[in-house]
Amino acid sequence: MNKPSAVSDTLLVSFNPATGEELGTAPIATRDEVFEAVRIARSAASSWSRTSFGERGAYILKARKEMLGRLDDIASLVSRETGKPRVEAVSCEILPIADLMSFFAKRAGALLRPERVPLGKFNWIGRSSWLVYKPLGVIGIISPWNFPLSIPLGAVTMALMAGNAVVLKPSEFTPLVGMEIGRLFDSIGLPQGLLTVLTGDGSTGSALCEAEVNKIVFTGSVATGKKVMAAAAQNLTPVVLELGGKDAMVVLEDADIEVAASGAVWGAFCNSGQICAAVERCYVHQSIAQQFIQSVVRKTQLLRQGPDNRFDVDVGAMTNERQLAIVERHVEDAVSRGARILCGGKRKLDKGGLFFAPTVLTEVDHTFAVLREETFGPILPIMIFHDDEEAVTLANDSRYGLTASVWTKDLARGRRLAELIEAGTVAINDCVYTHAIPQAPWGGIKQSGMGYTHSRLGLRELVVTEHIHINRLRRLRDFWWYGYSETTYRVLGSLASTFTSTSWWEKARSLPALLRAQRLPKY
Ligand code: NDP
Repeated sequence: MNKPSAVSDTLLVSFNPATGEELGTAPIATRDEVFEAVRIARSAASSWSRTSFGERGAYILKARKEMLGRLDDIASLVSRETGKPRVEAVSCEILPIADLMSFFAKRAGALLRPERVPLGKFNWIGRSSWLVYKPLGVIGIISPWNFPLSIPLGAVTMALMAGNAVVLKPSEFTPLVGMEIGRLFDSIGLPQGLLTVLTGDGSTGSALCEAEVNKIVFTGSVATGKKVMAAAAQNLTPVVLELGGKDAMVVLEDADIEVAASGAVWGAFCNSGQICAAVERCYVHQSIAQQFIQSVVRKTQLLRQGPDNRFDVDVGAMTNERQLAIVERHVEDAVSRGARILCGGKRKLDKGGLFFAPTVLTEVDHTFAVLREETFGPILPIMIFHDDEEAVTLANDSRYGLTASVWTKDLARGRRLAELIEAGTVAINDCVYTHAIPQAPWGGIKQSGMGYTHSRLGLRELVVTEHIHINRLRRLRDFWWYGYSETTYRVLGSLASTFTSTSWWEKARSLPALLRAQRLPKY
């Protein structure tokens, strides 16, 4: 059960963390294999980059159809390899990724349409500018185990739609789902070399960072993200880093207490808390704290936990022993400092797998590991605040800045607070789920990462922006070219104050000087 997933230098063994059942094996790709895959991807990228958005979208929609045609098998594989219930394999992976595939298959062309740049007064001298978006080449995608289908498949879809080839390295804990992504595209006849899935461990990911791909889209921990950025810097390979979180939930005194409590319970314990955007810190106004905490505990105690045999569980297993050990350390640290465990608090040994009981903690503060470090497990620490300012200060007292939420009936107040909270996304009266909206940007600030996935912003990460500048006055030499004289000097001096002025009246006064400058003798 607790065996590491890599059993030798060449082979990974995948286990069901809910039962200990061995699910299959996958090779560990070597450094040479990684470099070879990137070379093949580069040659495949060149013809793919010339295909139309319609052709690319047709492949994506076929892969989507194939995935939905095998929904039960794929949901079951995701569930067995991660330990999450099949309902969550559908709600948090298959459903959002099917939507993302539809969205980008249809909309990528419009989102990457060339754009005219307004040049203001440069139009007077016959100039215009355009931005065109061109494929980067080869995108290296390195993904985690917590959403082994939706995170990598989302990045693959967007990279292909932008006209790139992809080399994907899934997590060593979920290689079979990674291989399934490769099979989906093979089965619909995606041209060879455009998507290579290389299973492996950290060494495979590390090799991909050195293989001179055109961009790395990395999703994982802060610690690994730093290694990825350092390795990528050797070749100045650009990176998108989607890293960890310690996401705050702020419950104001006018919130709907029952709805907020349900949101806190789902937001903290969905996927056994192994979500970068999970509610990992809850702050509740003192006037409603007792009622809110009682409701959270009552709802937590209703959760059914165990292996998903008959769709009869709410909370599954954790995916690996390494993460479970972090959860245990955070709970032990909290208890040793005086925290109160209101429910849960320990491993569930009777279930056989890697189960940790959903846990609610109070009497905690920001000196505790459970409020400072990412827990990535089913633990909900709750603290009390007294006014909005204190709530914002607590929410911002973190090195992370991925998502946060504010719960209130007063949407204007919620928005004010949302803007004061330091996070990539702040939801009002909701939490966690906006990764499932392909139109909305996803990205963290502070140590939660840099760059974006999803939305127009995420698509723009996967292209080169080229500026095309046109001079329609092609028979004229520019007035700043050679043939310098004192007159040139004086004319340019007057343009420095008129042509560049912020006032339109002053700018208009530059027209005679422009005409004069144009008539100056040139070589
Ligand atoms: P890790 O950082 O451990 O691993 C992420 C990926 O990086 C895995 O594929 C891993 O391979 C690979 N890797 C390991 N070492 C290296 C290396 N030196 N160079 C390149 N790649 C390497 O994260 P986890 O898989 O444990 O995922 C959990 C983390 O991901 C949490 O912190 C979570 O918050 C974050 N996350 C962030 C999201 C976001 O959108 N911001 C979304 C989902 C998760 P292997 O597993 O084979 O070792």
